[in-house]
Amino acid sequence: MALTELDRQARDLFVQWCRAEGCSVRIDAIGNIFARRPGLRDDLPAIATGSHIDTQPTGGKFDGNYGVMAGLEVIRTLNHHGVRTEAPIEVCVWTNEEGSRFVPVMMGSGVYCGDFTLEHALSRADHDGVTVAEALATIGYAGPAPASVGSGAPRFGAYFEAHIEQGPVLEDAGIVIGAVTGALGQRWYDVSVSGMESHAGPTPMKLRKDALYAATHLMQQVVDIALARQPHGRGTVGCVHVHPNSRNVIPGRVDFTVDFRHADDAGLLDMDAALRQAAAELQRNFPVGVTLEQVVYYPPAAFDPVLVDAIRHGAERAGCDCLDIVSGAGHDAVYVARTAPTAMIFVPCKDGISHNEVEDADPAHLEAGAKVLLHAMLERAGTASCESGHPAPR
Ligand SMILES: [Zn+2]
Repeated sequence: MALTELDRQARDLFVQWCRAEGCSVRIDAIGNIFARRPGLRDDLPAIATGSHIDTQPTGGKFDGNYGVMAGLEVIRTLNHHGVRTEAPIEVCVWTNEEGSRFVPVMMGSGVYCGDFTLEHALSRADHDGVTVAEALATIGYAGPAPASVGSGAPRFGAYFEAHIEQGPVLEDAGIVIGAVTGALGQRWYDVSVSGMESHAGPTPMKLRKDALYAATHLMQQVVDIALARQPHGRGTVGCVHVHPNSRNVIPGRVDFTVDFRHADDAGLLDMDAALRQAAAELQRNFPVGVTLEQVVYYPPAAFDPVLVDAIRHGAERAGCDCLDIVSGAGHDAVYVARTAPTAMIFVPCKDGISHNEVEDADPAHLEAGAKVLLHAMLERAGTASCESGHPAPR
């Protein structure tokens, strides 16, 4: 979990491994870590990679960690083969990507790109009232470097993030490398349907204001709205609270969540309009009131076509099949993409399962993803020279 004693140990280990490879390490004010391998031209913006090392309470060991370890492996491979790059190489660890202990999610990269301020992030508190600022100070990761591009944090020349897919598409297609062309936009809502609580026996059917009966119609429509917008529409009702949730009381109020995703903003707006129309119709057709509040909006992200191409070339060099894919989940890369050319590499995870301790991935696939990352980064960083007797990396 982010900014805990275990997070400190994992951070220390990463920093120690990077220093052992000759990297300098920079920590910023939100605790993001940047390990830097110098280039021949240190005035060039770094070619960067990375991800997060925090996890969910019952999360797996690949989500996030894979991208950071793949970056470290790139540096070790370059060192092993004595390869000097023109541009510096950096490996990033972004603070609190998961948002499990502190909200908002993708906190470190969100501050970096300026989606919200450092002060806002530092003031967020966990369930015990411990703030991000206090937790960072406790584990010794409140760094001196500026945390946002707006306050002087360096922009990257390119940013690649390797990640397990967290979905079933690559495994289903039997393909090892996903060249991620972008990420779905998201709109989240809180919906409340209100009727009237009354006794399940004496109240005749025609005199009821059954909030749950009405709400189930709207919940069906959330999924139908997505089904009508394939392949890139997603609609989910994941959380439902029924009041008073008693066997023999007609439900007086139902609160539920809506999670809409779509590959383009027009599609997402279209889903928004359809939901609002369905809510209005519900109030006409049932004796209930409906309130609808949008609580989260992430615009769709289109990754950089040149970098996506670099990933395709990397897959070719590594001898892997490659499939264009769109990320359904949020990632640090989505925020970094607002500041620099960005793309992601996906590798399959077993049965598409993530945020679960059974999360698993094939070592051969993880190795392939790291090779593709290496080639893609080298294509952008420029290979200057090879000093050792080792053959160039393949
Ligand atoms: Zn992740």
